[in-house]
Amino acid sequence: MLRVVCASANPHKVAEMVDLMGGIVEMEPRPSDVLDVVEDADTLVGNARLKAHAIMAATQMPALADDTGLFVDALDGVPGVHTARYAGSSATDADNRTKLLRELAGKSRDARFVTVALLCFPDGREIVAEGVCEGTIAESERGERGFGYDPLFIARDGDGRTFAEMTIEEKHALSHRGRAFRTLAAQLRP
Ligand code: IMP
Repeated sequence: MLRVVCASANPHKVAEMVDLMGGIVEMEPRPSDVLDVVEDADTLVGNARLKAHAIMAATQMPALADDTGLFVDALDGVPGVHTARYAGSSATDADNRTKLLRELAGKSRDARFVTVALLCFPDGREIVAEGVCEGTIAESERGERGFGYDPLFIARDGDGRTFAEMTIEEKHALSHRGRAFRTLAAQLRP
């Protein structure tokens, strides 16, 4: 099985990536001595590439990264590429959710999550896959599971529950990350 290093430092995302790709590649953890990359590209694919290349340079192994954004129609696509830092550079997930609810008061709530998954190889090859999940932003937080904006996101193809109210299998079946990694996995199969 192909060995790849996981470029994410976010334990929630790592758990989801291992879940989704564990049977397809052998995932090595991100080396703890590699500094966080500054994600200053202006696209999701640019930021995924920055993260993957930093880990590949440090390990000389194939590296797998993802970058995700939440694009809210009534906010002209904000927070988008800046989803992690929506409420400021040291914002917590809870701070970001609070700001989103405040900004959306009285506005329409259509939104989509987009994930770009990127696998790069030391010989210069690269596989990129995108996953989109259309949905709406809930009026208030619901559910205890997941991370990030999960208590606020209701997938259009779901049953009205937020991602934070679903099991991880239910979330993977619908989510941006599930879709992106399934597309990437399909490109890896011989
Ligand atoms: P990044 O891809 O790690 O840069 O994540 C960007 C932002 O989106 C962070 O605030 C994450 O918490 C949030 N995020 C990423 N994936 C998910 C998800 O699957 N559900 C909810 N929030 C997410």
